[in-house]
Amino acid sequence: MLLRHTTNKVKEREALTVNPAKTCQPIGAMYAALGIHGCLPHSHGSQGCCSYHRSTLTRHYKEPVMAATSSFTEGASVFGGQANLLNAINTIFSVYEPEIIAVHSTCLSETIGDDLGQIIAKAREDGKIPEGKHVIHASTPSYVGSHVTGYANMLEGIVKHFAMSTDEIKRQVNLLAGWVEPADMRELKRMMSVMGIKNVLLPDTSEVLDAPMTGKHEFYPKGGTTVPEIVSMGDSMFTLGLGEWATKSAAIKLENQCKVKFALTDLPIGISATDRFVMALAKAAGVSIPEAISSERGKLMDMITDMHQYFYGKRVALWGDPDQLLPLIEFLADIDMKPVYVVSGTPGKAFSKKAHEILAEKVPEAKIKNGATADMFLMHQWIKEEPVDLLIGNTYGKYIARDENIPFVRMGFPILDRVGHSYFPTLGYMGGIRILEKILGVLMDKMDADSPEESFELVM
Ligand code: SF4
Repeated sequence: MLLRHTTNKVKEREALTVNPAKTCQPIGAMYAALGIHGCLPHSHGSQGCCSYHRSTLTRHYKEPVMAATSSFTEGASVFGGQANLLNAINTIFSVYEPEIIAVHSTCLSETIGDDLGQIIAKAREDGKIPEGKHVIHASTPSYVGSHVTGYANMLEGIVKHFAMSTDEIKRQVNLLAGWVEPADMRELKRMMSVMGIKNVLLPDTSEVLDAPMTGKHEFYPKGGTTVPEIVSMGDSMFTLGLGEWATKSAAIKLENQCKVKFALTDLPIGISATDRFVMALAKAAGVSIPEAISSERGKLMDMITDMHQYFYGKRVALWGDPDQLLPLIEFLADIDMKPVYVVSGTPGKAFSKKAHEILAEKVPEAKIKNGATADMFLMHQWIKEEPVDLLIGNTYGKYIARDENIPFVRMGFPILDRVGHSYFPTLGYMGGIRILEKILGVLMDKMDADSPEESFELVM
């Protein structure tokens, strides 16, 4: 197996990443753009980048992800890709008829120094952008940041291009979704509808990347935030951003551009973060929390109480994205599990500080690292030094799970070898139940597999 030769002696590394715990910026930009109705993502670079980004999204969502590319060859790589992009814009609008083209850069086009804003302005001048259609852009060089940075940059680009203030305040709340599954976006809308809150959710990949099989291929599925909805965000009462890494820059842009005040809160994963989310929403919209939401909370609490003995004291290793990891480790600590190892390839000094604060009281021994050298190799070394009872993270952990025989719950991006993540939410109180059900499932399977015959239990 790939990691069988991992040594357990950790050595300081500065310039080497082995099996990174992150992926490319443009993947995030593509995912955010797919949450806009009628939008075609466009990769300004070589074909290989676009193929890799599309295939990763397609493998995770099990849906055909459409995206165009500027298709750089040697000429464009040396002299710049302006001609390719102008040509692409012209062809895409005449052949594929999107409402919006969302262009993101790649390592190559950034290194050449292509100015997307200038090229798009030229396309407009040259009459290549039809009346009522839009071309938006984001800078996403993959030698900095991660897929989360790319998502944040595209979200900011969308807000910058569309949001407009008419000075007529609308009784609606903007919800900037962090990078979550289509099922989670649907769950956020359901919760807001139960609370009676009119809202604009941006982006919204439900009914795009979990669209039903109808027997007919829809190039632009019916889901996604519409242009009029995004424009109206400039007149909303308030903006709530879910996850600092994915939504902060868009929230700031919206406030600067349209004077819509904002607050950031964690993704509602688990009890405490969902409590904060529900209270922040209620405050922003000026509503009270309905009984139906309290009842969902009660169900989650009931499950925690019923099954606490199976969670208690279990050591957990996690990897993934900062916005998911912070509320998730808080949730695990809340139910007396021990998140002892945490890595994220996404940079940002605040992550490790915040994670240590969350775990300071209950898991002071936790090892936490993020950035370029916080990789799956390091995670494996920590586990070899002192094992854990459970792994939580994306598919790339399956090698460690197999080599070390550790129960494994797949969460995060990408999940390339299982289904269900697009359909069953992990956000909110009901999502908390789903997370616990998955954790319990693998822990109890392991107990069943390992228990001697005399203590093999029918009822657990
Ligand atoms: S790292 Fe850069 S060159 Fe490689 S696939 Fe990503 S965007 Fe393309």
